[in-house]
Amino acid sequence: MPRPIEALIHPDALSHNIGRARDFAPDARVWAVVKANAYGHGIERCFDALRAADGFALLDFAEAERLRALDWRGPILLLEGCFEPRDLELCSRLNLWHVVHQPQQIDWLAAHKTHTPHRVFLKMNSGMNRLGFKPDAFRAAWARLNVLPQVEEISLITHFSDADADRFGHNGIEHQLATWLATTHDLPGERSLANSAATLRHLANAGARSDWVRAGIMSYGSAPDFPEHDIAHWNLRPAMTLRSQIIGIQELQPGDSVGYGSSFVAEQAMRVGTVACGYADGYPRHCGTGTPILVDGVRTRTIGRVSMDMLAVDLGPVPAAQVGSAVTLWGHGPRGSVLAIDEVARAAGTIGYELMCAVAPRVPVRVL
Ligand code: PLP
Repeated sequence: MPRPIEALIHPDALSHNIGRARDFAPDARVWAVVKANAYGHGIERCFDALRAADGFALLDFAEAERLRALDWRGPILLLEGCFEPRDLELCSRLNLWHVVHQPQQIDWLAAHKTHTPHRVFLKMNSGMNRLGFKPDAFRAAWARLNVLPQVEEISLITHFSDADADRFGHNGIEHQLATWLATTHDLPGERSLANSAATLRHLANAGARSDWVRAGIMSYGSAPDFPEHDIAHWNLRPAMTLRSQIIGIQELQPGDSVGYGSSFVAEQAMRVGTVACGYADGYPRHCGTGTPILVDGVRTRTIGRVSMDMLAVDLGPVPAAQVGSAVTLWGHGPRGSVLAIDEVARAAGTIGYELMCAVAPRVPVRVL
């Protein structure tokens, strides 16, 4: 029997979550953001469910090629655009829309001998200071693109840095939105502003037209503004389950310790289960004692340090647990139980994005 660990992908959850993006942005079209191999879920595994979106957004030409190989003929947007001039040929061949965020990309377009006109998304740096033209350079960049015969259509795009929280005394997007509107209000073209957090938290009242929302993390059933609001609040469903089993049980006496470094010491007699999942499977080593975990669908906690292949759980809340009992590291457990990846990520001092992208290649994946 193979080691009892696997990741499950839930297509019904993916379609449900895309439906939630539509609920929040009924007048917009939805990009399913599938960069990083669909946030670790696998592009091919998610494709049938995510094609309920209107297009796919990603960074990597190889991933775009995989979508075309799946016979996806709809829009694909390259969020970082071209990295060198010859990428423009790939954009033409694969019919990719691409972000233009820096002046060289306009030079490359101007020099490109193409018969296929390009659809570009001109990116404004409205305050995140990662990619894009600052407001004072944005309109000049637009004017340059606008006269190029190589460019068929110019859309406008920006990205919010704080849409997931109220920070710096504002609602997270106000400061960027004001800059954006002041710079773009009279320019033609479609707009794409909102990531998951902005779609969920701001679209209804932001006054920001977003013809295309970019649904990343919400598509996979993780809440961008956890813990303020969790997946139940947003009605999102986990698209990935990581599950394993109890493979050994220890009866501890007071004073007994568990695992490397003896970081957990029992204060009273207790049962401890050993789970076939460790950091070499992608479970974060930073999850110390107290990380939520489900055994037979019952919520309990990890104890001690996570080792390479195993971790320990407190079986106190699950007296009937035995070797072979089901363990849910995150996602869907037995009898309708759910453990949000966000809770595990929080215990590790990180975000759900990182955990879902880091499930190790040795973990078998099954699509339900
Ligand atoms: N748009 C851009 C430009 C991004 O870089 C990302 C991801 O970081 C997204 C959209 C999707 O963001 P999220 O996963 O938070 O929805």
